Amino acid sequence: MPLDRRSVLRRLAGAAALGAAVSGCGDDSHPSAIRTPAAAPGGNTPAPSGSSGPSAGAEPPPLPADLPFHVASGPPDRPGVALTFHGQGSAESADSLLGLLEAAGARGTVLAVGSWLDEQPRMAGRVLAGGHELGNHTMNHGDISTMSAERTYAEITDCADRLRRLTGSIGRWFRPSRAEDCTPVVSAQARRAGYAHCLGYDLDSLDFTDPGPTAVTRTVLDNVRPGSVVSLHFGHPGTVAAMPAILDGLRTRGLRAVTMSELVT
Ligand SMILES: [Zn+2]
Repeated sequence: MPLDRRSVLRRLAGAAALGAAVSGCGDDSHPSAIRTPAAAPGGNTPAPSGSSGPSAGAEPPPLPADLPFHVASGPPDRPGVALTFHGQGSAESADSLLGLLEAAGARGTVLAVGSWLDEQPRMAGRVLAGGHELGNHTMNHGDISTMSAERTYAEITDCADRLRRLTGSIGRWFRPSRAEDCTPVVSAQARRAGYAHCLGYDLDSLDFTDPGPTAVTRTVLDNVRPGSVVSLHFGHPGTVAAMPAILDGLRTRGLRAVTMSELVT
């Protein structure tokens, strides 16, 4: 029996808060929709069809000028959803997930942790070569909401430097670490670092709590809607095991897994 959306999100937020100390991206803060005119910085979105190889220097289509700074979902009237991944963990796990997406004609958005790019520099190009999108998820995935402005800026720019070096672009999307949305301090530093958007999510798969693939699949498919931005994680075997059923379920529901930029344009 499906739960209503508010109770699901409350339940998910509570559980996410429990797991956040382990390795989750979020906590139970609620995204806000501060509408701010958005600049359109260079991104590293690959060309929509048939592109291969890192898109160093490539200019993706501009995002809508009225897209808010805080983005946590896409249009509810189109059949797209965005699977967004915390980019950290073994290369094998990442390769497996990306391969499953590609085999299903799906695309994802990977928010890379800078220290992961130091350990797995190959993955930046691997993500883009598969037609996926790449963004910034801080250098060390600390509790960014508690950091000073300067420390926050360093966490963002240290990761951005790696993205630029590896792909030619810092990417369009910044996702805060251990927080569901950017605080005013984090927002200001993300803008200062060149990001026009803070990327949240509206559906937490809770995969980082390792509840088993069946539970991950059910959490996603019971709650997904057109425009959903789903939080998922590399580095958890249950996520890999769940992905075929998730992709199958999305297809059954008439939903397409697209990159964040595709979701909002
Ligand atoms: Zn994360």
